[in-house]
Amino acid sequence: TVVTRFAPSPTGFLHIGGARTALFNWLYARHHGGTYLLRIEDTDRQRSTKAAIDAIVDGLSWLGLDWDGDVVHQFDRAARHAEIAHQLLAEGKAYRCYASPEELEQMREQARRESRPMRYDGRWRDRDPKEAPPGVKPVVRLKAPQSGERTIVDRVLGSVTLQNNQLDDMVLLRSDGTPVYMLSVVVDDHDMGITHVIRGADHHTNTFRQVQLYEALGWPVPEFAHLPLIHGPDGAKLSKRHGALGVDAYRDMGFLPAALRNYLLRLGWSHGDDEIISTEQAVAWFDLEHVGPSPARFDFAKLTNLNAHYLRETPDAELLPLVLPAIEAAVGGALSDTARDRVTRGMSGVKQRSRTLVELVAGLAFYARTGAPAPDEKAAAILTKDAKALLAGAAGALEPASWAEPDLEAAIKSYAERNGVKLGQVAQPLRVALTGSTVSPGIFEVLAILGREESLSRLRQAAA
Ligand code: GLU
Repeated sequence: TVVTRFAPSPTGFLHIGGARTALFNWLYARHHGGTYLLRIEDTDRQRSTKAAIDAIVDGLSWLGLDWDGDVVHQFDRAARHAEIAHQLLAEGKAYRCYASPEELEQMREQARRESRPMRYDGRWRDRDPKEAPPGVKPVVRLKAPQSGERTIVDRVLGSVTLQNNQLDDMVLLRSDGTPVYMLSVVVDDHDMGITHVIRGADHHTNTFRQVQLYEALGWPVPEFAHLPLIHGPDGAKLSKRHGALGVDAYRDMGFLPAALRNYLLRLGWSHGDDEIISTEQAVAWFDLEHVGPSPARFDFAKLTNLNAHYLRETPDAELLPLVLPAIEAAVGGALSDTARDRVTRGMSGVKQRSRTLVELVAGLAFYARTGAPAPDEKAAAILTKDAKALLAGAAGALEPASWAEPDLEAAIKSYAERNGVKLGQVAQPLRVALTGSTVSPGIFEVLAILGREESLSRLRQAAA
């Protein structure tokens, strides 16, 4: 059975790359009827914050990526991590290293001269601890294999081979006895029964050291799948401008969780040419074979188009609670029953023209107001003297209409004919007077929804 995990470090918001990692872990587990766990990697006490943990939990919940069981907090398990290091010591698979800071600095210096990463030379590997200088607190290091090579087959990046002499004996416990991150990850993944480690490609190089630990401990090695990074549309590292934002920023920009899920899924995974993939389909189809090995490009326009699709597909009744608070904020208070009813009836027409919830709110606000909305700059220019005269006349022509849409249309059409003007010459001023904007749903729909009293009052106000 499959067990995956998402293991964010709570040092900042849940960014878009993290959200994709979470999604892929969630999908892989759900596809296989397995378990998806959440582990907060809060061992960096300086940089981990409660606010970041809350942001991660909120972001995942909003995205609908529910995890199984309790959240594991890595720092709570520090004693267990240290215990494993002591077990390795007892088994002779790890050793105490008393190298002084000066000695290590010399090794670092040497590495710099040779332009290679620093490698601890193993000087305490076989030395008798009785020779330890007094007062030095040792670190504990893994006795890693020094010869041979190791190949790791990554489910996404393929197989990579490393000579064992490229890696030094890594530190497991610091001189104050605290475990290092690499040890904590391996012990937690083992204890949590993780079968598949799916994470960002920035962790790929850690895998070699982690595998050394699994082998020293005689634990089964999980499968690894490293997800290529997300780049901006220009191929450069993802910047804020390009979408390297917290998930909460996407929520505030009016994206729907289902749209963001679909977008993140396609960011690195493919199913033929399918662009629109529901979460149910994603669960049914997801695999690691179709995760591409090269960096994905983040494209705001694509996300926005996808969101427009999901907006159109969402039932009006589900959209209403998502937009009501923002509409109330826009009009400055709770809506009357009439206003609420108009917003409800207007939803279907406005959502066809909106790409985000923010646009939906902006497009619906005129239904919620009482009285003629202040026209925007472009709209105000429409209301010339002639247009105002036409408006006054149109109000008169509408007065006897039954207020059913076909009657409204007939009344305005014959009014335009009688006055020898094109329908658009009447419709555009009507639109501005009723909505305050030059773009809106069809004008007869707007009239019908606003109702006789409100419509006539707006027209007369604008004509004055
Ligand atoms: N805590 C790491 C991060 O947030 C993830 C480590 C892992 O998945 O193994 O990047």
